[in-house]
Amino acid sequence: MSDIMKGKRGLIMGVANNHSIAWGIAKTLHEHGAELAFTYQGEAFGKRTKPLADSVGAKLLLPCDVEDISTVDAVFDTLKKEWGTIDFIVHAIGFSDKSELRGKYADTSRENFSRTMVISCFSFTEIAKRAAELMPNGGSMITLTYGGSTKVMPNYNVMGVAKAALESSVRYLAVDFGDQNIRVNAISAGPVRTLAGSGVSDARLMFNYQKRNAPLKRTVSLEEIGGTSLYLLSDLSGGVTGEIHFVDSGYNIMSMPRLEELKVQD
Ligand code: NAD
Repeated sequence: MSDIMKGKRGLIMGVANNHSIAWGIAKTLHEHGAELAFTYQGEAFGKRTKPLADSVGAKLLLPCDVEDISTVDAVFDTLKKEWGTIDFIVHAIGFSDKSELRGKYADTSRENFSRTMVISCFSFTEIAKRAAELMPNGGSMITLTYGGSTKVMPNYNVMGVAKAALESSVRYLAVDFGDQNIRVNAISAGPVRTLAGSGVSDARLMFNYQKRNAPLKRTVSLEEIGGTSLYLLSDLSGGVTGEIHFVDSGYNIMSMPRLEELKVQD
């Protein structure tokens, strides 16, 4: 489509299947000339990711479970050995126990709070630190967040708290790496039907509600999230860092449901 990413190499973390946001991003980056490496979590996801990685000509497909830091180190050791340097990373990793993505946030267990924070938030910091070491000529990093970080979304609970911490870490990392010309940003995506997305109780209700009430009156596509990632990971966004960029059909600007919805409920 264009050569905007030609000569750039990067790592995509978080493809579970062809519905994953990370896959939408990978496809777009590939279409614009990027060379990609992928990680997968566990054998089952590995089997699904392999044909996808093959279809975009990726030669590096590496196992990585962010709960085991030795697997993260192994990924960056391999990238150093095979490529020497990288230009970008995509962190599209999130997890919380499904049983706590319902009911009250106050009922979150200590164990799941810690696990959710490590996987969904701190892993980005650990990955960013290692990636920066392979970016001597500057680079760009993105992670994925959701509007439940700053506003209460039913059932999102501890994930919202983890996303708030993730967004804050985007800003701290942007400062840490700014003098190396490494940019750090987040895409705050509207609801997408994915494995992780369906883990939140009543996901379908939320999906349809946002569809009816967003300014664009629809949800967003993987291609639209891919397009924004292309902007943030390419030189087009050279002066942009520390941003939380919404790709949500404008839903975040609303303070109330649309008028039609209010009339139905009146
Ligand atoms: P997905 O299920 O396709 O992807 C989630 C990924 O996280 C999977 O590839 C999974 O393997 C990975 N992961 C979970 N635990 C891991 C671990 N311990 N080590 C390594 N990888 C691990 O779902 P998705 O919706 O594409 O999620 C990608 C990101 O987008 C997540 O951070 C999610 O919170 C965020 N997001 C999703 C939505 C949505 O509505 N789906 C909206 C906004 C943000």
